[in-house]
Amino acid sequence: MLLREVEYAKPASVADALSALAANDGARALAGGQTLINVMKARAASPDVLVDLNGLEELKGIELAGDGTLTVGAMTTYTELVASAEAKARPILGEVVATIADVQVRNRGTIGGNVCANDPTNHLPPLMAAIGARFTIAGASGEREVDASDFFLGVYLTAVGPGELLTKITIPAGKHDGFAAITLGADGTCIANAAASLNGSLRIALGCVDAVPVVVEPDSTDAAAVRAAVQQANLDPPSDVHASAEYRAHLAEVLAVRAAQQAQERN
Ligand SMILES: Cc1cc2nc3c(=O)[nH]c(=O)nc-3n(C[C@H](O)[C@H](O)[C@H](O)COP(=O)(O)OP(=O)(O)OC[C@H]3O[C@@H](n4cnc5c(N)ncnc54)[C@H](O)[C@@H]3O)c2cc1C
Repeated sequence: MLLREVEYAKPASVADALSALAANDGARALAGGQTLINVMKARAASPDVLVDLNGLEELKGIELAGDGTLTVGAMTTYTELVASAEAKARPILGEVVATIADVQVRNRGTIGGNVCANDPTNHLPPLMAAIGARFTIAGASGEREVDASDFFLGVYLTAVGPGELLTKITIPAGKHDGFAAITLGADGTCIANAAASLNGSLRIALGCVDAVPVVVEPDSTDAAAVRAAVQQANLDPPSDVHASAEYRAHLAEVLAVRAAQQAQERN
């Protein structure tokens, strides 16, 4: 289906982008367009103005600090993450984005677009929740930083409000992580997924079972402990053509155990 007519702005700076977003209630940021253009074609979204963030160098790049903290610009693509020597400081990042869809999507899709879309089937919301990412949001009144529990608010809904932009994601040091998913075909959309981080205490974030990642913190990576923690979360996942609620709840347990074991093996 063809796009409806839409205004297009290509700002030269983040400040100009914020002005363009603030000037029109119907303005939306355009990152890789791999979700937004598709929902526009399907008439599920109909912005008046697209504010194209491509070309804003301020929103790109991956920096590694001396303590192992990574700072990733919102407009960094999956392909750039996979290729980055700095991003290998947190190996799970490149490993997971390398499995998203196909090379075309990975060349265009951005880490910022993925989390701002907050599609519950996306790979990155649970990964960011498990590894303790922090999100920097810029708006007319300046910048603020929020953690994952305050960032992901609902289906397609995040703490990035109207007139605001996600500018960067800060990821703490750590190597002991895991990720497991059941997908529709190889590298396809997730039916269920789980990300685990064992850098200090164990944190597991479950994806596709609720509007936002569900975080559980079992006492150990022991399979029984992980299963018990997932059961105590009283999941009420959606049913759809791909999986019933019961099957998704079952997968959440299985995948949580796999992700935790992977994190343990890297310890
Ligand atoms: C065929 C196909 C298969 C896919 N499979 C998967 C998959 O298996 N797993 C997965 O995780 N993803 C998958 N995706 C989605 C893909 O990863 C998208 O790239 C991602 O969801 C959105 O990133 P984007 O950069 O394309 O953002 P866009 O589509 O440009 O934007 C998405 C939303 O975020 C907002 N936004 C973007 N950047 C910012 C910012 N910096 N500040 C504020 N708001 C912003 C936009 O306004 C828009 O509302 C798939 C996409 C396609 C086309």
